[in-house]
Amino acid sequence: MEKTITKPEIGLDPADWNDIKTLGYQIIDDMVGYLKNIGDRPAWTPIPQQVKEEFKKPLPQTGTDIFTIYEEFKQNILPYPAGNIHPKFFAWVQGTGTPMGALADLLAGVMNSNATIGDQSALYVDKQVIDWCKELMNYPADGSGILVSGGSIANITGLIVARNTIIANAKNAGVYAANGKLTAYCSSETHNCLGKAAEVIGIGSDQLRKIPVDKRFQIDIEALKSKIREDKAKGFIPFCIIGNAGTVNTGAIDPLDDLLQIAREENIWFHIDGAFGALAKLSPAYQQQLKAIEQADSVAFDLHKWMYMQYEVGCVLFKNAAAHRAAFATAVNYLTAHERGLAGGPETISNYGMELSRGFKALKVWMSLKEHGLEKYSEMITQNINQAFYLGEQAKQHTQLELMAEVTMNIVCFRFNPGSLDTEQLNILNKELLMRMHEAGIAAPSYTLLNGNYVIRAAITNHRTRKVHLDEMVAGTIRIGDALMKEFDAKLFKFDFLTL
Ligand SMILES: *Cc1c(COP(=O)(O)O)cnc(C)c1O
Repeated sequence: MEKTITKPEIGLDPADWNDIKTLGYQIIDDMVGYLKNIGDRPAWTPIPQQVKEEFKKPLPQTGTDIFTIYEEFKQNILPYPAGNIHPKFFAWVQGTGTPMGALADLLAGVMNSNATIGDQSALYVDKQVIDWCKELMNYPADGSGILVSGGSIANITGLIVARNTIIANAKNAGVYAANGKLTAYCSSETHNCLGKAAEVIGIGSDQLRKIPVDKRFQIDIEALKSKIREDKAKGFIPFCIIGNAGTVNTGAIDPLDDLLQIAREENIWFHIDGAFGALAKLSPAYQQQLKAIEQADSVAFDLHKWMYMQYEVGCVLFKNAAAHRAAFATAVNYLTAHERGLAGGPETISNYGMELSRGFKALKVWMSLKEHGLEKYSEMITQNINQAFYLGEQAKQHTQLELMAEVTMNIVCFRFNPGSLDTEQLNILNKELLMRMHEAGIAAPSYTLLNGNYVIRAAITNHRTRKVHLDEMVAGTIRIGDALMKEFDAKLFKFDFLTL
């Protein structure tokens, strides 16, 4: 039977393009107003239960008018962000994004480029951005790299290449082709994504040796050396050392020169997790301390953290482009490059990483770097570092506050400590204090445990932060802490609201 089209054909473009224009202009107006005045909003707003219920509704079977959808967005989604666009957001390590970055994402959305294959502009932009990233880290022009979703995947990508370099036949035979169990080394303060990386590359997280740190939270070099010796004597095969350029807890920078030297002596891969800290390279005072990044075999860093770009975008760079390519390149009929036509042009980017389809994340990087130029980023990062040192000084000067780790970069760990409480009580007090500070929308730092002590932790990768915002957080901490101590006294030296 001949197939005929009996119904009118359909598509997903609007019936009236003017609707998109009207809504689009409205969105731009609203969003500019929203971002411009973001600091007037609470640093965080709890999501009401009835709003959470909205997100349990079933899959729509029929369409809704776009203006209604936008109203729903404004009512139930826009008011409740985590807050990393806010000048008083200091939680985890999250970047702020920029207005132009948002427009770049809109433009990338319009082009809807799959930045993987084909002779298309997106691939040239992507390549230029990688070249700029190499300049940023002072990597050689013949090195290589790839933009990925973030630091986690950047680190995993680095470790895949490290593994495939030590095991010649890893692509076919896997880790079974090694002459023993592979071991990698990092400090106990290393981000958990490297544990995941160890799992993914098949060595298992037990074979990622977590070396103790000193009181500045830097890897203990002697302990590292002796662990490598011990492992070799037992038949393990050390293949990689991972250095931290800025740990997530405190911003500590490992002694990278020492790690580099050990890696060279052992003839093994040296990878650096510089998720945010590698960018401190742009601040003159940190250039020497981070110089070893230039000598490492690979470095992972995020552009969505301390380059203030929109989520998601991270990067990993390699010295040895051939090793990088060898780990991922496969020749398949449907991806081979042609001499001309759409399939001409650059090699598929999928030959350099795990992903095939990938968005045009390079565009926001390209536009942002052009908009501000490197000098501005350098000043911005230096400003955040100076703000962290300022906050650290405040924590030292206020008698009710205690600075819990030396400030070395952009992270400040402190707690409220009136002096009369034991560790457990302080932990409970500070956790409650933090939650109240969030709920009151005063500021949004986060938390961590340092040597068993619960600390309030502020990571400043925020271009909207000014000194006054830090002062407000400090004042809020003391105010809530004092109020809690009154409750504490009333309860006969026992908090009953919470346990850690
Ligand atoms: C954030 C972070 C990561 C993970 O990066 P994502 O972009 O969140 O995947 C890894 N290491 C450190 C030190 C980090 O701060």
